[in-house]
Amino acid sequence: MAFKLPDLNYSYDALEPYIDSKTMEIHYGKHHAGYTSNLNNAIQGTEMENYSINQILENLDMSNSALRNNSGGFFNHCLFWEIIGPNCGGTPSGDLLNSITDNFESFENFKNLFSKAAATRFGSGWAWLCVLENGKLEICSTANQDVPIMPGIGCGGSPILGIDVWEHAYYLNYQNRRPDYINAFFNIINWEKVNEKYLAVS
Ligand code: MN
Repeated sequence: MAFKLPDLNYSYDALEPYIDSKTMEIHYGKHHAGYTSNLNNAIQGTEMENYSINQILENLDMSNSALRNNSGGFFNHCLFWEIIGPNCGGTPSGDLLNSITDNFESFENFKNLFSKAAATRFGSGWAWLCVLENGKLEICSTANQDVPIMPGIGCGGSPILGIDVWEHAYYLNYQNRRPDYINAFFNIINWEKVNEKYLAVS
């Protein structure tokens, strides 16, 4: 069964001024669509056609670069569109906020650490907030389209929040000002969705 590009639950211009409409159109309609069709090509005729995306990632042969890049690209962007949205931002609440303050002292401190992980990822990649098996939260980053649940990635646990810091995610509007994009990202985080993901894995 082939993987499908998921629907976007908002219009391309819904995240303005934080993410511009043209960036959304290209990012979703070209980049994510490309990862999706390349993932389907990479698994065609193999037993992985019957796997879930999580099964593919958790059992990945890391030397298979076409599969590594495109399964990661498919998964990461599915998560990304889900955890951002219009009329969002602010701060988390409930169990997730408690866990963030337990693990990082304060929301402000969490924001600083997460922003730093995103800003210092050299080249292309992602910064993550993950839930470890022991329930603790971890901030980490991965290169390219690597996902924390891939084997031996050195950034463990289940990702519940991620920021795409590839230039294709921000360059049209922000050019080389990645820190401005990271700062803007906090205005579109859908904390209700992140909390949902937190509760599902903790
Ligand atoms: Mn991207």
